[in-house]
Amino acid sequence: MLIAYLDHQRQDQLQWLVSAGGSSSDEAILCALGVEESGDVALSARDFGGVVSLWPARFLRPSTADDVARALHLAARSAGLTVAARGNGHCVGGQAMAAGGIVLDMRTLGPPMSLAPGGAAVDVPGGALWSEVLEWTVRNHRMAPPSWTDYLGLTVGGTLSNGGVSGQCFRYGPQVNNVVEMDVVTTDGDRRLCSASINSDLFFAVLGGLGQFGVITRARLALLPAPKMVRWRRVVYADFETFASDAEWLVTQPDASAFNYVEGFAFLNDASDPASGWNSVPILPGSAFDPADFLTADAASVLYCLELALYYDDRAADRVDEREEELLRRLRYVRAAEFSADVGYVAFLSRVAPVEAEARARGTWATPHPWLNLFISAGDIVDFDRNVFKRVLLGGIVGPMLVYPLRRSR
Ligand SMILES: Cc1cc2nc3c(=O)[nH]c(=O)nc-3n(C[C@H](O)[C@H](O)[C@H](O)COP(=O)(O)OP(=O)(O)OC[C@H]3O[C@@H](n4cnc5c(N)ncnc54)[C@H](O)[C@@H]3O)c2cc1C
Repeated sequence: MLIAYLDHQRQDQLQWLVSAGGSSSDEAILCALGVEESGDVALSARDFGGVVSLWPARFLRPSTADDVARALHLAARSAGLTVAARGNGHCVGGQAMAAGGIVLDMRTLGPPMSLAPGGAAVDVPGGALWSEVLEWTVRNHRMAPPSWTDYLGLTVGGTLSNGGVSGQCFRYGPQVNNVVEMDVVTTDGDRRLCSASINSDLFFAVLGGLGQFGVITRARLALLPAPKMVRWRRVVYADFETFASDAEWLVTQPDASAFNYVEGFAFLNDASDPASGWNSVPILPGSAFDPADFLTADAASVLYCLELALYYDDRAADRVDEREEELLRRLRYVRAAEFSADVGYVAFLSRVAPVEAEARARGTWATPHPWLNLFISAGDIVDFDRNVFKRVLLGGIVGPMLVYPLRRSR
């Protein structure tokens, strides 16, 4: 009824929504929407990329799915009025912005997380951070979603709109593969439940849909038992082809004998850059990386590191040393150029948090971050190394250069 009122009586007043200045009708419309407004509009015009800045007319803080539905319903009936959901603003090209439109701050959305019936999944609001999901599921139920991102300060709705990839992906697929069902507000303002069997077109459009097919207000995420500990290891390669073929071998092992996590990165054979030089390799602060110990003087200017993890509860009972040794024995990394640590599962998944804290302290977290993600076929990856890492990026990018194998079947 409220929306009908807006449709028919206030069409002329909606114009203020597309002007950042506002007018005396602002309050009436906001009041009719019943959605609280954020005082920090500047936040909605920023993202992690720091390259694009678009100002909305309004930055709203929905607390329920109905609030989201009212905003989308209004926009659907107002020519030229756009709406963007904003997770934590960690995209890099203005994707969560709406010039002259409405930005929805998904962080304020409820209700709180709860275990789904049956206990094998968790219901989370679309604006929950992955760090919050991890903390809640492990602390309350010793369970956790199987597939993660490296950095957990991202929202569930934001990564499900993109993909959500990390080193678990070769086993479980990206985060979009591990969703049981979702509540979505469609672009016409309707609330719909969707899953692989209910409204499946909507389900598969929204997953990886770049926020263009609706707003995820709730996601039901699959859970697995959470391990207590992680054997975390980094091993260094001087030669790309060996690195790539070992990485591919690792992700094609049967699950029972494989690592739980496989990632990798290229780094510069010098100490100058804290984000992509020697210092990026040791796991624990304080361990030194001295290439003179294991590399010849003519080693290439770009080197490679595989990052691996084995999950376990009990070191002896789970035979973690033997299982790891069996896998490492087959790899051809530079012996002695390796680092390892045994850390708690939550600490392992939260490993980027200290990096963020350091970058914030250095003032580099808020600087512009141009960013490129590419999927490259196995047949082209050696050429990519030769032409991009060894030529274009010879001097580094003053940031991480992640490179790791995924399986098409996942
Ligand atoms: C430091 C850092 C590390 C990262 N690491 C990884 C990584 O390891 N793996 C990985 O896959 N990605 C990673 N990313 C990229 C990340 O997936 C994207 O930044 C993504 O945009 C998620 O960020 P966000 O939750 O802040 O969403 P936003 O950037 O706010 O939004 C991203 C897109 O999703 C839409 N959206 C947001 N919420 C919803 C919702 N509830 N419903 C529908 N659409 C919505 C927005 O409109 C926008 O189009 C990283 C990003 C950063 C900055």
